[in-house]
Parts: sequence; C-alpha cells; structure tokens
Amino acid sequence: MGSIGVLLVCQVMPYLEQELDKRFKLFREWDYPQKAQLLTNHAASIRAVVGNASAGADAELIDALPKLEIVSSFSVGVDKIDLNKCKEKGIRVTNTPDVLTDDVADLAIGLILALLRRICESDRYVRSGQWKKGDYKLTTKFSGKTVGIIGLGRIGAAIAKRAEGFNCPISYFSRTEKRDSKYKYYPSVVELASNCDILVVACPLTEETHHIINREVIDALGPKGVLINIGRGKHVDEPELVSALVEGRLGGAGLDVFENEPHVPEELFGLENVVLVPHVGSGTVETRTAMADLVLGNLEAHFLGKPLLTPLV
Ligand code: NAP
Repeated sequence: MGSIGVLLVCQVMPYLEQELDKRFKLFREWDYPQKAQLLTNHAASIRAVVGNASAGADAELIDALPKLEIVSSFSVGVDKIDLNKCKEKGIRVTNTPDVLTDDVADLAIGLILALLRRICESDRYVRSGQWKKGDYKLTTKFSGKTVGIIGLGRIGAAIAKRAEGFNCPISYFSRTEKRDSKYKYYPSVVELASNCDILVVACPLTEETHHIINREVIDALGPKGVLINIGRGKHVDEPELVSALVEGRLGGAGLDVFENEPHVPEELFGLENVVLVPHVGSGTVETRTAMADLVLGNLEAHFLGKPLLTPLV
C-alpha cells in the first residue's frame, strides 16, 4: 500500500500521522503553502483524503482529485465533507462513531457541573488568594434539574443516561420521535427550551440545524436557563448568544465548540457564567487512539477490497 497517495488535510495526533506515513504515501497539506502546487504535482496519485472536525473535503477539493476513492474522517461529524458530491462520484466516506460517545457525553456533564457549581471560577478564587478574605458565594444545584437534549442519538442518549444518574428529568427534540425512548419528546426546539433548565446541543451540523439556537430559543430558555454546546459552533447564532449572556437574558453557557474556531468572542472572557473549552469533546488519549485506529482500519479495508468498518457513504 506504500504507493497509495493519502492526503492529510489537517494536523492530527502524532500516532495517526506516523501510522499513515508508515502505511501510505502521505501528503501533508500544510507542507504545501501553495495548494495549487500540491494538486498539480500529486493529484493523480491521491486516492484518499483524511480530515477531521475542522477540515474535510469540499466540492472543490473532490473535483481536484480525479483518483479520489475514499474520505476517512477522524471525527464523527462530517459537516466538512460534501457528502452529496461523494455520493454522486461514488467516493466512499467513513467516520468514527461510537468510540467517542462516552467522552463527549462525559464532557457535557462536566460542563454542566463546572457551570452550575462555578468550578472554574472558584478554582480561580482559591488560586488568587481571595478565600482568605471570605467564603465563595453560593452556586446552583445540578441534581434534579430538567435537561433538554437536541438530538437524541448516540451522544445525546449517553448524556441522558448520565443525567438520569443525577435524577434529572430528561426531554428531547429531534426530527423524529424515538418510539422506544422513555423521555419526553417536544416537536420543536422552542418548546423544548421553554420546558427545561439545561439545554444541550448534541445533533449533527446540517443546513437545517445551522443556528438552531437563535434569539427565540435563547429567550425561551431565559435568564435562569443554561446552554451547553458539544455539537458544532455553527449550531449557535454566536452574536445572539453573546448579547444574551452580557445582558443577563440567559443564565449561562458551557461551550466546547465555537462558530469560528479557534477564535472565541472576547466578550465572553470576562463573564463568570460561562465555561469555555477548546473543542476537546473526544480529546482523551484513549478515545483519539481508538478513532485513529478506525481511520486506519477503514483505509486498509477499502484498499484491500474488504468491507469498511464504519461506512457512512
Ligand atoms: P448520531 O448518533 O447520528 O445522532 C444524531 C441525532 O441528532 C439523532 O438523534 C438525530 O435524530 C438528531 N438530528 C439529526 N438531524 C436533526 C435535526 N435537523 N434536528 C434535530 N435533531 C436532529 O450522532 P452522534 O454520534 O450522537 O453525534 C452527534 C454530533 O455531535 C456529531 O454530528 C458532531 O457534530 C457532534 N460531536 C461533537 C464532538 C465534540 O468534540 N464536541 C465530538 C463528537 C461529535 P433524527 O434523525 O430523529 O433527527
């Protein structure tokens, strides 16, 4: 397989990069400041693209790679891949479902606890020596709060299971009601937001879910409600979120993802009712290694003519 050209369009963990390099003829996009030069010289030998949550394969790249057979994403979300174009051209697409579900759900609960119990803020309180001047203020209880989840898929269901352990009533919104679910279904995001304390975004980013969190939803959640986003930044109308937080129209936000990563609105930096983490939902050694093995396994299966491990298209 050493002669098969694989284009890596983003920086990934060293393990994956090294293993790709060992097994294939690896082209790192960042080695070519002029993308045109990379394509002119190597397009004819590139048969696979490896991307992640921040970079994938758009129509332009797909059209520029006439020998492309497979796009293997180091992520479960595939919003950076033109799936229609891939279907049209018979290009296979794989992602990394299931192996990251636990970590992302764990982080969602971590963000809720950190936000309501002000864990980051009170950590800063201790470090800055303020405790010597007086006790930290009272915070908000998590156990028993109503949790509303947008997208009751693998990650959404794992968040629900964890929140049940905190005695939280669970409700959800998705395009279809899950008949086998015991949780309360709301047919719109606004109704879900009006009836929960904590709203968690856990659906894929599509044209339909772009800015699914808008002013109306934020207003429905209200000054005591909090938003947790472990989906994608573009699920949220960020300027609306920022003004609602600054004006106190929303109780708080725990955010793993942002509209224009790695840029985060600086207005959020001074607010104590936000917890901000740098898109680390699946970012543990264990999970990223399992994701890397899926990327490698899918590529090898494809080029050996075997069934793909996690085919999407
Ligand atoms: P999944 O199992 O496919 O679940 C997606 C859920 O979203 C399904 O329940 C689906 O139900 C629902 N959904 C789809 N379109 C919807 C819409 N238009 N409106 C409302 N709900 C909709 O996916 P997953 O593995 O749980 O992953 C979900 C997403 O999490 C990924 O796509 C990715 O963007 C994000 N993610 C983020 C991180 C991170 O690091 N922060 C890591 C992994 C994944 P219906 O079909 O009934 O609508």
